[in-house]
Amino acid sequence: MIAKFIKRILRRDPMVKHTQANNTGVPKRIPKKLHRIDPHLLSKNAVKVTQTLQQAGYEAFIVGGAVRDLVLGIGPKDFDVATNATPDQVQRLFRKARLIGRRFQIVHVTFFGKGHPEIIEVSTFRALLDNAGDHVAESGRILRDNVWGSQGEDAARRDFTINAMYYDPSTETVLDYHGGMADMQKKTLRMIGDPTKRYREDPVRMLRAIRFAAKTGFTLEANTRAPIAKLGKLLQDVPSARLFDEILKLLMSGYSWAAIQGLSNAGLHHGLLPLLDHILDSSEASKGANDFVKLALANTDQRIQSGKSVSAGFLFATLLWPDLLKNWKANIAKGMANIPALNEAMDDTIATQSSGMTIQRRFESDMREIWSMQPRFERRVGRYPYRLIESPRFRAGYDFMLLRCATGEQSPTLGEWWTNFIAADPAGQDELMASAKNDLGSVANAPAKRRRRRKPKSATPSEPAAG
Ligand code: ATP
Ligand code: MG
Repeated sequence: MIAKFIKRILRRDPMVKHTQANNTGVPKRIPKKLHRIDPHLLSKNAVKVTQTLQQAGYEAFIVGGAVRDLVLGIGPKDFDVATNATPDQVQRLFRKARLIGRRFQIVHVTFFGKGHPEIIEVSTFRALLDNAGDHVAESGRILRDNVWGSQGEDAARRDFTINAMYYDPSTETVLDYHGGMADMQKKTLRMIGDPTKRYREDPVRMLRAIRFAAKTGFTLEANTRAPIAKLGKLLQDVPSARLFDEILKLLMSGYSWAAIQGLSNAGLHHGLLPLLDHILDSSEASKGANDFVKLALANTDQRIQSGKSVSAGFLFATLLWPDLLKNWKANIAKGMANIPALNEAMDDTIATQSSGMTIQRRFESDMREIWSMQPRFERRVGRYPYRLIESPRFRAGYDFMLLRCATGEQSPTLGEWWTNFIAADPAGQDELMASAKNDLGSVANAPAKRRRRRKPKSATPSEPAAG
């Protein structure tokens, strides 16, 4: 009892732990001529953080996904640093440093320069937790995680071998505990340790496996892949906010279509997000919906790969659009007028999603704005177009409408009209409006009151042309 207590106290002091030799293993030291990391791809701020820590007498390395990406020759989108200094010790060394998190305490060191501020995430080497400890739930899921350990222990707790390499910019050496470099060469994604146990500890690792495989094009090693089919249901126990974050990362990875296919192949998509079921439903009936979503995802991937930003609200608005359209049409068939039918369909669509993974409020309002703008694009008379252009989310609504044109759900001439209208001077805009007036038959240009009395079918200007 007392011995256990003392052991636990000792483990909390990083300088003490350092002398312990448990579970560390000896890393392979990989010199520059083998790892070939291009120093130009390094963040100056990340290097500054490792230097500052090292000058203060601590160990410090760039770690995780950043090293993986550097070895792949890709510029990492963010940099993590691992050190044997405790969060308090780290915080004292930097002017702009904030302690973040409870379950997994880390320090955010912020640098302000040209453009966006850069945050370097600094974490202290974590100890391995034994299964019987009070940090682990009955299912094996890790609940608390602030026991400091050696670098070797820290490496063993990471998920994949290619995510467990440590790079020291001062010596340009990579420390590799689990054969990550060999797996890089074999293009293999391999879980460290016993995959079943690791997925039980944290089921989100299954989603990470799919995401990294899509991003790197690597193959999931057989034992890493095998347990996923059986353990997928454990994702139900993961708090929905965390699940949401992970799905968002997956969709914003720049390889969303490949990742969604990966989820499907692994049998992971069911119940995660009802919309994923739709996307992967290959029946003839949902073909139109699939085309729209596929195009939206391809568009998103392309934007992200070329370094442009994508709004999550926009992305979810596209993914849920087929569902929304279905509900909207059903409401109209019940005799509701166009706009109330749309409003109710928005409520229903969002409520359905909440049964699985909650879509956060801030995205919800973006989605609603984008959706409710869609019928307004068809009203091209009077003050309507000017008012629409002034909406704060006009650009998103317009991009969304163009996607609908691209899949044939909406007439391409409508998209062209708006593209011209945005670019035109006042005289040109008048001309365009006049041309739109002649474009009758377009029910949407008729006054709202009359429209309401029309037969339901002709009152659905936004229905997809191909139905
Ligand atoms: P990216 O930032 O490109 O999405 P990443 O590998 O850097 O990929 P992060 O979520 O930033 O992913 O995590 C940083 C590192 O922390 C990982 O490389 C991995 O070593 C470790 N890690 C993150 N999440 C887990 C997890 N659920 N289980 C084990 N290790 C993890
Ligand atoms: Mg990262």
